Formats: sequence, C-alpha cells, structure tokens
Amino acid sequence: MCSSDLTGCNMKEFELIKRYFSEQMIKRKDVVLGIGDDCAIVTPSERQNIAITTDTLVAGVHFPHETSARAIGHKSIAVNLSDLAAMGAEPTWISLAITLPEVDVKWVEEFCKGAFELCEFYNVQLIGGDTTQGPLSITLTAQGLVPHNTHLKRSGAKAGDWIYVTGEIGDAALALKHIFKEVNVAPEYRASVQKSLDFPTPRILAGQALRNYASSAIDLSDGLIADLGHICTASKVGANIVLDDLPISNALRDTVGLEKAYEMTLSGGDDYELLFTVSEDNKVGMETALANTSNTITCIGQINGSEKITTTLNSKPVAISTSSFEHRSEERRVGKECRS
Ligand code: ADP
Ligand code: MG
Repeated sequence: MCSSDLTGCNMKEFELIKRYFSEQMIKRKDVVLGIGDDCAIVTPSERQNIAITTDTLVAGVHFPHETSARAIGHKSIAVNLSDLAAMGAEPTWISLAITLPEVDVKWVEEFCKGAFELCEFYNVQLIGGDTTQGPLSITLTAQGLVPHNTHLKRSGAKAGDWIYVTGEIGDAALALKHIFKEVNVAPEYRASVQKSLDFPTPRILAGQALRNYASSAIDLSDGLIADLGHICTASKVGANIVLDDLPISNALRDTVGLEKAYEMTLSGGDDYELLFTVSEDNKVGMETALANTSNTITCIGQINGSEKITTTLNSKPVAISTSSFEHRSEERRVGKECRS
C-alpha cells in the first residue's frame, strides 16, 4: 500500500520492511513466495484444510500504553496462534499489518524480538503485511493447517461432557487491576502475574492433541463465563462450573481472597488458555494425549441440557457476580475486547 504509508512510500519504509520483517529466520518449504511481491504464495499440503484468523491489537484498548514493545510483539502473535490452537490447527503463515506513530528503530527491534521468538518456536513464517503511520495498532492474520475434518469447533458439546481448561486462569486480569491500581500485587508475585498478561502462551500442542478427543473447544480471550457461553450457545447446551475446582494461582488467591478470585477467574479475560469439552468415553484418551504435551489441565465442571450456566461451591448452587469486574472506562477495556 502507499497513500498513508509510514514515510510516504520512500526508501525508509522499504528499509524498515527489509531490515526487520523480510529477513525473519524461518523459511518454510511451503512458502513459494514470501515478502517482497504484491502477494505471498503458499502451497498447502494435501488432505489439509487451512484455518485462518485475524486479530487487531490497538494501544490503550487491547494493551496498556506502557506495555513494552517486546510484549506487544509477543502478544500480537500469541493471541492469533491461540485462535489456531482452539481449532486444533498447526500454525504456518502470518501477515502483519502494523501502524506506527513514528519510525522508532529501537521499538521495532524489540517488537520483532517478541514476535519472532514465538514464530521461530512454532515454525511460523511471516509472509507479508503492510506498514503505515498512525496511532499504534497491530493486525495479524495467522493461517494454519489441520487434517481434513479434524478441526475443533465450538458447536459439538453434549450434555454429560466434562469441561476442562488448560493452565491457570485469572492472573492476566489481576495484572490489569494492579496496573490500574485497584489491587496491590505483592512484589514476589508481580513478575509472574505481569508475564501472564504480556506473554501468554498459545496452547498449540494441546489444541492439536485434542483433535481426536474434544467435542468442542474455544480459547479464553473474553473471560471464562463469556467464552463458555459461546460454546453453550453454539452447542445449544448449558453448563455447571464447580468453583472449588477452578485452577486459581496462589498470586490471585493471596491478593484478592478466594471469593473475588472466583469472580475474576470467571470474568477476567486475556488468559489465552483453552477451554474444551470431552465425553466420558474420550476422557482417558484425552488425558493421555495431553500428558504428552506438558500442558496442565483441570476439569472444572460439566455440560448439561439446561441452556444456562450455573456455578456450585461445596456442591451447593451459588450465584457469582461476574459484572463486578467489568471494565468501565475506555482505558479499562484493555483485555475485554471481544475476540473470536
Ligand atoms: P504493496 O504496495 O504491493 O502493497 P508494500 O510496499 O506495502 O506492497 O510492501 C512490500 C512488501 O513488503 C510486500 O510483499 C508486503 O507484503 C511486505 N510488507 C510490508 N509491510 C510488512 C510488514 N510489516 N511485515 C511483513 N511484510 C510486510
Ligand atoms: Mg502491490
């Protein structure tokens, strides 16, 4: 593109692209033509479907303005790969549309470190993009491969299926609250809590391992209740969450107490863990397959036919307010933007 490009289509823009984006390490065999032409050309392998997802991150909306360039780079890639993970896809190619307020070489360098570390780890090649000037915003399109008819969907959950999550949830929401000075995270927990917000791990291998076992799956971007709601709506079922079983970190429990920890775990968002359902028959197979991926998983409840989401504590029904942690101001929309 040209009209509002960073430096009005002069050499600086091309130098920036060449220096930081087109010399990325990864060179995949299925990329026929990468950065440098009007389009990228890729060859998907036979018997594979292509999964495609796009996410935008806007400064002040999806991450606080003070977020480091490295974290922004990592997170831009991670949130997109997380969507591929939720479909059971193997990530392959990404395009990056980046809008920068100015050419700050140090910033771009750090951004690339964060972004390409993750790309390298998952063998994902940057195949194109666009570079423009304006308020900081990053749009990524990520593509991945999944063998024919093995992709995971939101719509397959059935009454009786067990509900699982990977990892721990609630720490990213806690980090935001600390940044907004609504809570004070003890110094010994700060680094790990901040890492959950800035450097989420897309559960790529877990997603692939679930292909043969999960009846439905989604990644947790909007909050547990909201995202489980998407599964329930798509599958026309209801669910009960057992609060006692939620995987809550010591940091979250020690900072806000157990009751608020439940609320934040249910409504927080920005976790990028996988939420999935498994039938009783597939439970053991799934647990064995997941054990080989070094992901921890926790069973947190069960799908039912009610078309409602309920919660229990000590085996008794409880009503948990999930609105008390809604973000109010524009700045506090960080992390709550709806993503698919
Ligand atoms: P065009 O004008 O044909 O859209 P551009 O001048 O915008 O092409 O970009 C030149 C090449 O650099 C293209 O192959 C494009 O995909 C790639 N590119 C531009 N910006 C980026 C970026 N931020 N990351 C990766 N590739 C980029
Ligand atoms: Mg062109």
